[in-house]
Amino acid sequence: MAHGLDMEIQFLPGVGPKRAELLRKELAVETVGDLLRLYPFRYIDKSSIVRICDARPDMAYLQIRAKVTRAELYGSGEAVSEGAAVKFNTIRRMSVWVSDGTGDMEMVFFKGIKWMHEKLKPGTEFIFFGKPTAFNGRMNMVHPEVDAAPTSAGPAVSGPPMGAACMTGVYPSTERLKNAGVTGKVMNKMMEAALERGLQYTEESLPEYIMKQCGLVPLHFALRNIHFPKDMISLEKSKYRLKFEELFYLQLSLLKQKYVRSRSDQGIMMPKVGEAFNLCYNALPFPLTGAQKRVITEIRNDMKSGHQMNRLLQGDVGSGKTMVAVLTALIAIGNGFQACIMAPTEVLAQQHYKNIQKFLAPTGVRSALLTGSSKTSERREIHAGLEDGSIGIIVGTHALIEDNVIFRNLGLAIIDEQHRFGVEQRSRLWRKASCGAPPHVLVMTATPIPRTLAMTLYGDLDVSVIDELPPGRKPVQTIHATEGKRPAMYRFMKDEIAKGRQIFIVYPLINETEKLDYQSLEAGAEEIMQKFPFPDYKTAVVHGKQLNDVKKFNMDAFAEGRADILVATSVIEVGVDVPNASVMIIESAERFGLSQLHQLRGRVGRGSEKSYCILMTGHKMSKESRHRIELMCATENGFELAEEDMKMRGPGDLEGTQQSGLPISLNIASLAKDGLILNAARDCADAVLKEDPTLTSDRNQMLRKELRKEKYQVKDYSKIS
Ligand code: ADP
Ligand code: MG
Repeated sequence: MAHGLDMEIQFLPGVGPKRAELLRKELAVETVGDLLRLYPFRYIDKSSIVRICDARPDMAYLQIRAKVTRAELYGSGEAVSEGAAVKFNTIRRMSVWVSDGTGDMEMVFFKGIKWMHEKLKPGTEFIFFGKPTAFNGRMNMVHPEVDAAPTSAGPAVSGPPMGAACMTGVYPSTERLKNAGVTGKVMNKMMEAALERGLQYTEESLPEYIMKQCGLVPLHFALRNIHFPKDMISLEKSKYRLKFEELFYLQLSLLKQKYVRSRSDQGIMMPKVGEAFNLCYNALPFPLTGAQKRVITEIRNDMKSGHQMNRLLQGDVGSGKTMVAVLTALIAIGNGFQACIMAPTEVLAQQHYKNIQKFLAPTGVRSALLTGSSKTSERREIHAGLEDGSIGIIVGTHALIEDNVIFRNLGLAIIDEQHRFGVEQRSRLWRKASCGAPPHVLVMTATPIPRTLAMTLYGDLDVSVIDELPPGRKPVQTIHATEGKRPAMYRFMKDEIAKGRQIFIVYPLINETEKLDYQSLEAGAEEIMQKFPFPDYKTAVVHGKQLNDVKKFNMDAFAEGRADILVATSVIEVGVDVPNASVMIIESAERFGLSQLHQLRGRVGRGSEKSYCILMTGHKMSKESRHRIELMCATENGFELAEEDMKMRGPGDLEGTQQSGLPISLNIASLAKDGLILNAARDCADAVLKEDPTLTSDRNQMLRKELRKEKYQVKDYSKIS
C-alpha cells in the first residue's frame, strides 16, 4: 500500500474499493494527491439558518431548523394510512411536514424512505439543508440533507457548528456518484482524511521568490483553505494562489517554447520588401486600413529578423486578410522565394486564387491553383513550375503537401483557417523547405477569439489583429423571426431579388442528426422552389452529399449571379465571397453556436448594399439559445460575441469543466473570468524567462522540474513549430 500522496483513495475511511472505482471513473480521482487537487466549485455557508417565513424558492440553497409535525406516505398515487404494517417496498414517496414556528414546509423523499421515516419522528428537531423548489404554489425541498439539531447546551454532535464562519465546499459530482451515496457530506469527510494524510507530503510548487513577488500564500495554506476555508479572506487568498499557479505554469510552458524558437537563428532572412510588393501596393484600388498597415509592418519585421516567423493573423470576416496575405507573399517573392497559400476546402482555395489574381496582375508574378481536382496534365505543369521556381505563388488545398510536390525554394506558408490543418500535415509542409531553414508561417483565422483565450491557445505564437473593417461597410441588420413571419419573409425576399440581390438560406447540419437535417434541407429547398418558381426565380442547392462537380456547378451558378437563391448546409463553403448577396437567412438558428452564426452573417454586407441577416427559430428555445439570438441582434462585433460566448459556455459548470481546445485543461482558473490573474501570471512568467530563458538558475529548478511533467509537453494542433 502506497503512502502519502500516492495512497489510493480506497483506503481512506468511508471510501472502499467500490466507491474508489466510481470516483476514478467519474472524476479521474485515484490517489490522495488527486483528491487534494479536486477543488470545490462553490461554497455554502451552513451557519446561517433561515426562517421558513423568509424562505424564497429562488434561493440557491436553504437551511432551516424545524420540528417534524407529521409524515405522509404514498403508494402509487394513494396516501397510505400509517398502520402497524407499512410495506415500505410499495411506498413511492414520503412527505414530511416540518415547522419552525414562523411557517411550515414540506420535505419530499423518493428514496431511502424507510430509513428517513424512522429518523424523522414527529416532535424532533432537525437542521434541513437543500435547494428550495416551488411546487403547486408552495415551497418544498426534495431530498434535503438532514442533521440533528444541535442542543442549546453544547456544540452539535453531527450538525454543522453554529455561529462562526462555516463555508462548506461543494465538489463536482455526477448522477452515478450521487446514486452510490457519495454525497456532499461524504466528499467533505474524504477530503478531511486526505488532507490529514496527504498534506504533509505535498511539496511547495512555486519558488519562494515568486510567491513573495506576487503575494501568493504557500501551497499548504492554499490547499487547506480551499477545502475548508477558515474565513473569506483565507479562501480568496487560496483561490488566487491556486489559479495563479495553474495559469503561470501554462503561460510559462508556452512562452518558453516561444523563447526557444526566437533564440534559435533558424529563419530565412528576407531583408527587403522587393519590387513585386511595391508594384502591387501602388496599384491597389483602395488605401489600406490602419490595421492592415500595422499588421504588415509586424509581419515585415518578423521576416527580416532572421528568425522564423510564427504569426497568427486574426481578423473578423471582411476585415481584409486576403490583402495582407498577398502582400506578405510578395515580400517572399521579392526576396527570391516562393510562397504557398493553403485553404481547407477546394472552394475556398478557388476563391482565394480568383481573388488574388487582380492584385497580382500588376506584378507579373506567376501563380497557380492546385487542388484535388486539378487535371493530371495541369498538375504536371504545376509541379514542374514549382520545381523550377517559375511559379511564385501557389494556392491550394492538401494537394500542396503531397510528396510529389517539390518546391525550388519555399520561403513562406500562409495557412487559412488553420484549425482544420493537423500537425502531421503541417510538418509535411516543413519538410518541403529546401533552403535549410523552415519557411515563415502566417496562420490566418477569422474566428474571433477572446484575448485571454488567444494568449493561451496561441501563447507561443505572435498574434496580429486586424481590428478595423474597411471603410464604407454598411452594417448588417439582424432580425429574429419565427414561423409566423415566413410569408412576410418571402415577400421581402422577392423585393430584394427584384432589386437584383441574391439570398443565402442556410440549414444546420449536425452529425448526430444528419439524416433529419438533410430532410429539412430538402423540404426547405422544395418549398423555396415552389414559392420562387423557375424561370422567374432560380434556386441553387448545395450540400455535402453532392458530387464535387455538382457542388461546384451549383456554387458557381450562385457566385456568378445566375442563381438568385442558394440553399445550403452550414458546413460547406462558409468562406465564399458573393458581394451581391444581401440577405442571409439562417434556418433553425437556435441550433447554431454564436461564432458560427457570426461567420455566416459575415457572408453578407460585403457589397455596398444594405444587408440583412434573418434568424429563423422555433418558438420554444432554451434560455441560452434565446440569449445567443439576442446577442446576434444586438452586436456585429465578433470579439464582443466571442467574449460573451465564452462567458456563456464558460467553465465552473457542475459537471466537466473542460474548456474546449485548450492545450492544458484548467482545474480551477477560468479564462473567461480570471483575465486579471492570467495577465499577472503571464507577466511573471515573462519576467522569469527574460532573466533565465532556459530556467537553469538555481532558484528556478522547481519550475524546470514542473515543466518536465507530461501535461506540459504540448502536442496541441495549434502549435506550429
Ligand atoms: P477577409 O478575408 O478578412 O474576410 P477579405 O480580404 O476577403 O476579408 O476582404 C473583404 C473585402 O474587402 C474584399 O472585397 C476586399 O477587396 C475588400 N478590402 C480589403 N481591404 C480593403 C481596404 N483597405 N479598403 C477597402 N476595401 C478593402
Ligand atoms: Mg478571407
